[in-house]
Parts: sequence; C-alpha cells; structure tokens
Amino acid sequence: MKKDEIIEQINSCIECEACLEMCDTFTVTQNLLQSPNGRLKIAKKIFIDENISEDELKGIYTCTLCGMCDQFCQKEISISEIILESKMELVEKNIGPLDIHKKITSGIIEKENSVNGNPEERLNWLPEEYLNSELFEDQQSNTLLFLGCMSSFRVKESASASYQLLREGGYNFKIFKKEPCCGEYVYSSGNLQLAKKMFQENFDTFKKAGIKTIVATCGGCLYAFNNVYPKYVDDWDIEVKHVMQVIHELFQQKKLKFKKSDIEITYHDPCRTGRKLKNMDIFDEPRELLDNSSKVLHELSKNKEFTPCCGAGSGIRGVDSSISIKIAKNLFDDLKTEIIVSSCPLCIFNFNYVNYKTQAGIKPIYITEYLLENLEKLLLE
Ligand code: SF4
Ligand code: SF4
Repeated sequence: MKKDEIIEQINSCIECEACLEMCDTFTVTQNLLQSPNGRLKIAKKIFIDENISEDELKGIYTCTLCGMCDQFCQKEISISEIILESKMELVEKNIGPLDIHKKITSGIIEKENSVNGNPEERLNWLPEEYLNSELFEDQQSNTLLFLGCMSSFRVKESASASYQLLREGGYNFKIFKKEPCCGEYVYSSGNLQLAKKMFQENFDTFKKAGIKTIVATCGGCLYAFNNVYPKYVDDWDIEVKHVMQVIHELFQQKKLKFKKSDIEITYHDPCRTGRKLKNMDIFDEPRELLDNSSKVLHELSKNKEFTPCCGAGSGIRGVDSSISIKIAKNLFDDLKTEIIVSSCPLCIFNFNYVNYKTQAGIKPIYITEYLLENLEKLLLE
C-alpha cells in the first residue's frame, strides 16, 4: 500500500470503536495502544514521521496480525495490513524490529529455522523405518510435504503423523532433507528486504527440485506460500495446500478411513488456515474428517472466519508472553471438552505452553495426530 493511501485510510476512521472488543489483545489488556484503533493512531505517527514512545512501539509489535478487526471495520480500513506496513516502515527507519525479532532472525539465518532447532536434528521426527526411504528429494514426485520449523522441531507429532497418514493413503510426495525456513516470521516482523530474498531463494530451490505442489502442515507456512510469495516472487506458479485438504481428498477417495472414537472434541480454526487465507478457506474439510472420527464434534462459540486467536501469532510470545497466556486461557474457558484439535502446530505449541502454565487440564492435539490415532485400516497397499 502506498503511504498516501495508508494515511487516507487511517484518516477515514470515524472512532466508532466497533473494532475494539473484537481484538483479543485489547480484550485481555484493556490497553488502547494494543487495540486496532489505537494501533492505527500509532501507525499514522510512524508514517508522518512523528516520534513514538516505547509503549506505542510495543503496541505495534503485540498485534498478532490475526485479521479479526478487518472484518468489523465499518469504514473497511485494512487495519492489519496497515499495522504490518508500519512494522516495515519501522525497519526502514531503523527503529524496528525489536531485539527479540533480531535474535530470532539471526537464528533463522544461522540455523534455517525460527525455533533455535539443531539443523542436524531436523528429521528426528521421521520414524526410523522411513529414514532410508526413497521419499527424499531425489524421489520422482513433484509434490513437497513442507514441515516448517514448528512441526520439525517443536510439535514433531504433527510432522510424523502427517507423513504417516499420507503414506498410508498411498499419496506420492517427497520431503527435503534440508528444508529452508519459509520466511513468514521475518516478513511479519517487518524485515521485508530479507524476507523477499528468502522467498526468491526458496522459490529457486523448489523449482530446481521440480516442485509443482507444496503441502504444508503449518498455517504460517501455508499463509506465506499462498498469500505472500505470489506478491513478491515473479513467476510464482506453485500450487499450495494444507495437509488436511490432502487427507480429506484421500478420505473422499476412500483411500483413508477413520473410526469414530468414543471421545468428544472441539475443533479450533487457526486464523492462517481460514480468515487470513486469500481465495481459500479450509473450514469444511477438518469438520468432515473430525465428525467421522469423534463421538461428538463441538464448536467454540466463535469459529470459522470469526475464530479467536491462539495467542501466538506474529511472534507475540517473544514480545509479551503474558498476553499469549491470557488469550489462550480465554479460549480454553470457552471449551466444553478436554481435547482441542487444531491444524496449526504453532497454535498447538502455544496451547500446550498455556495449558502447562495455567494447569487448565486441556489436551491440545494436532489434527493429523488425532486422525492417525483413529485410522481404521489401510485400504491401499
Ligand atoms: S490484527 Fe488482530 S491483534 Fe491486530 S489489531 Fe487486529 S484484531 Fe487486534
Ligand atoms: S471499526 Fe474502523 S472506523 Fe471504527 S474505530 Fe475501528 S478502525 Fe475506526
């Protein structure tokens, strides 16, 4: 967005405050600097070259970029996009990003992942029997299962269960032995120049490996490949899917079959598999899969495009983890079941962290892990 357009949009705000109560960070902090409307005021200062305070800087960096506010603004202001552009402007002015973003970005450059994982251990999730498998980059498939940092290092069961289910369904794919970071963290912290370099290098790697389709396990990677890469990479022509869409296809083709468990579960829609995705939302596929594999599938009181944030979006945990905890705790309080299933490993990671911190007694499970537990039989050999 051009600077003039950003200022024009900000000036069109009529102070109706309809966006305030929709914002999870404002709900838990009651701090106007951490509300959509407050952040627009900070953004205006940034774009008209006024100084901002430390608290205002924090206001910008505690936005999860969940996009909820965009849906409620009566003046159709692109609030989350303006906040992201503010972060980019702060980097241009050498004010941002924060030290925590710089530290994580250095880790990404050094170790090719955003979670300080040992690159040598990237494939530790892979079941031993598959270690010498032909399913690496030399395999003749143009479909890449992209695991991302969270699945590879922090929520490994989301990687291994996705891998095993696809194999059980006879799906033809490969994985990279040395997978790069998708760059979403760098992009959402405002470092556009570095992010663009990463996007181009990754595209070149994908092309060299003959990739035509990427299947992602993480909402953040999916969002980056679907929404962001096409904007910055010339000739981007790679099809992008979430792994649960592929599992759903295999289920419809009767290549995978699930049994109904005797437990009740609740599904949480990650913002980056629904509301935030351009030209795509993945609401029906997980529900059909989970409905067929659980006793009762419950919903949160707000779901689909109105889903609440998990509390971890856009690096907020590193900026102020107390906000992440409160947001996730509010979501837990809305649950009618012990088990919450989600389809983003970052959401699962934060739910696990908050469950531990608050002793809430919740069991977060990544969708393919839940489905693998309830796989009835192998229909394809
Ligand atoms: S994008 Fe989400 S966290 Fe950021 S201001 Fe909007 S509703 Fe609040
Ligand atoms: S909903 Fe839109 S117009 Fe109303 S206060 Fe929020 S940003 Fe301004």
